[in-house]
Amino acid sequence: MERTDLKNLTKEELTAVIEALGEKRFRASQMYDWMHKKLARSVSEMTNLSAQLRERLQNEFDYTALKQEVMLRSEQDGTRKYLFGLSDGNVIESVWMQYKHGNSVCISSQVGCRMGCSFCASTLGGLVRNLTAAEMLDQVYSIERDTGERVSNVVVMGTGEPLDNFDNLVKFVTMLSSEDGLNISRRNITVSTCGLVEKLRELADKDLGITPAISLHAPNDELRRRIMPIAKRYSIKELMEAADYYTEKTGRRMTFEYSLLRDVNDSNASARELIALLKGRNCHVNLIPVNPVKERDYERPNMTNVLSFQNLLEKAGINVTIRREMGADINAACGQLRRSYESGTAAEL
Ligand code: SAH
Repeated sequence: MERTDLKNLTKEELTAVIEALGEKRFRASQMYDWMHKKLARSVSEMTNLSAQLRERLQNEFDYTALKQEVMLRSEQDGTRKYLFGLSDGNVIESVWMQYKHGNSVCISSQVGCRMGCSFCASTLGGLVRNLTAAEMLDQVYSIERDTGERVSNVVVMGTGEPLDNFDNLVKFVTMLSSEDGLNISRRNITVSTCGLVEKLRELADKDLGITPAISLHAPNDELRRRIMPIAKRYSIKELMEAADYYTEKTGRRMTFEYSLLRDVNDSNASARELIALLKGRNCHVNLIPVNPVKERDYERPNMTNVLSFQNLLEKAGINVTIRREMGADINAACGQLRRSYESGTAAEL
């Protein structure tokens, strides 16, 4: 039988488990505090529990504690890229970035991904499995412990499609923003999706208060289908309706991500089509010059093109930024560290 992971339990769930062991409720509060505030790496650190209880917990339960396999640190801007090992031997990537407004962590939501976007490294080996809420939380916890600094922002933009792991994602957001845990403001938690329409509506109905982002990457269905298989399942019209529903329901402004791929979606004509699509919407566009992935043949547009694309949007009154590149010297492109590690070439990085 599978053992229960103590770190994956909400405070209510943990209380029920602890009471079932014949222990007092306050023990659950103490344990929750150790796990989600003091960021204990194991039950043995929980020194205010009796030795007997600690031993029992260690014998009968699992306890997620990611193993730091690799850490690369940028000389340029302090960005750190982590490769963490899971208890089943899989590895995942997370990134730590320092900005003027605070410290940000980018986490993975799945091992691999099944969305198949043609420019993305994370999807090359397909989906291996979903991450549990504890495995998502522990990326943030491990990085806080390693850096000794507080995390203020979390972006779910690493490997995986978060809405393809919906229940665990919601549990993760709830626990991360809880006063009994790190108490990270929900507005500072960004969830990015390639556009699973039904799930996006379901997320809107939950009204979690998080910041939503949609990976759009193309202004029309024909082009979007060429680069994102998910576009064959949902049209841009359906996606936009779901985006509008999200904003109406939650009052949160939508961010649209647009990765610029040279000679594919970076022309002035594409910019004008994008303007026509987004005009009048309360939204923000984040332009991402593509990180070329060795297995794919996309190229990054030159900077003048990127700026001219941005200019056109700006002139049309659309709120637009270009994503600043962090950790360029540590090969921070999405999903690449994990791939090189698995193929045994991480030493070259
Ligand atoms: N599955 C989610 C979140 C993970 S990807 C999503 O699709 O939104 C986070 C963002 O990085 C997405 O906008 C994704 O399309 C983009 N991305 C992936 N690979 C990239 C690459 N090689 N260069 C630039 N952006 C990339």
